[in-house]
Amino acid sequence: MAKVKKYETVKELIFWSYANLAMAHTAVERNQEKYGTFNYVIRAKLFKGLKDETMNMRSIFDDEKIKLQTGQICNYCGSNQNLALDHIVAQKMGGKDDAENLIYACRSCNSSKGKRDLMEWMEYKGEFLPLMIIRRYLKLVFKFCKENDLLERKVEELDTFELPFKLENIPIKYPKPSELKLNIVAQ
Ligand SMILES: [Zn+2]
Repeated sequence: MAKVKKYETVKELIFWSYANLAMAHTAVERNQEKYGTFNYVIRAKLFKGLKDETMNMRSIFDDEKIKLQTGQICNYCGSNQNLALDHIVAQKMGGKDDAENLIYACRSCNSSKGKRDLMEWMEYKGEFLPLMIIRRYLKLVFKFCKENDLLERKVEELDTFELPFKLENIPIKYPKPSELKLNIVAQ
């Protein structure tokens, strides 16, 4: 069967990643070893709902609640040592200094991440971050693109743009559920 590309525009790419994330989320929550029909249905429904605007990226989850539950630990590794606030999207690159864009990170993760974009760092580490973090990241990217009128652009069009993230690093494939975690737990 020929592979059909699911997205052309920036908006569709973000939605496709988000729908895959939601699929992964349902599978991890149910402790599944691998994905099944139920999960694929969730993905298809959400992707369609996001595109025709009957659903939005806040439809399923409650971020602020999760943030409170996570408490003061490094959101990347769970350490409670040497914490500082980390901007998910670097301020230098236009990331905002507000709650949505800020999480706790330990010094070690912070310096490992350095100037890298979060998804770039994830690829570099070769290990998926907790799904909750990726979800927040996708929302920030969506918001940035909305504010800068980029959502309807074709993905390739943005190749030459100076952006605080790289579209090619946005995950469109998630590992199997047994390799993922929803949220970070304290070490
Ligand atoms: Zn850490």
